[in-house]
Amino acid sequence: MDNADYLDVALRLANAELTDLPTLVETLREEPWWADRATDADLAALRPVAEALRSTLAAATDGDGETVLSGVNTLLEKHPPRPRVSGHTANPWHIHVADADAPPATEVAAAAAWGLAQGLVEYRLTQWGRCADCGNFFLDRSTNGTKRYCTTKCANRAHVAAFRSRHRG
Ligand SMILES: [Zn+2]
Ligand SMILES: [Zn+2]
Repeated sequence: MDNADYLDVALRLANAELTDLPTLVETLREEPWWADRATDADLAALRPVAEALRSTLAAATDGDGETVLSGVNTLLEKHPPRPRVSGHTANPWHIHVADADAPPATEVAAAAAWGLAQGLVEYRLTQWGRCADCGNFFLDRSTNGTKRYCTTKCANRAHVAAFRSRHRG
């Protein structure tokens, strides 16, 4: 995984509902090494991590630097990345951020903390957004920083709703 992927793990976990095990498996589907081994214990362990990611990202969208710093550093302290070079598959050697026999939640939490840390250093507080429709957090890569929706799907839904309310009665 590269740094962009770690940031993606942080955002996916922050935006996940985590109501039951299938929702966790769905959240982790791009990493079968995690998704295929996830259990209810991982779900329970990752819920507070997702909550901490959300509160830190909410502070980032508010431009509250102090809360962001304490949030991300607490995550790193509780879920420190432990880099390992792994040859557990037929794939080339690659980096994991936890021991191979650690439960998926251990590595997912460390990957998310690391991804958030990298993302905050790269994008500071200026480019984080929260969808005006679904509430998901996203990185606003638009040049003028005015993105309001996480996806065109949400933008379209919001526009349809606005259109309907204007033309009601
Ligand atoms: Zn691997
Ligand atoms: Zn959205």
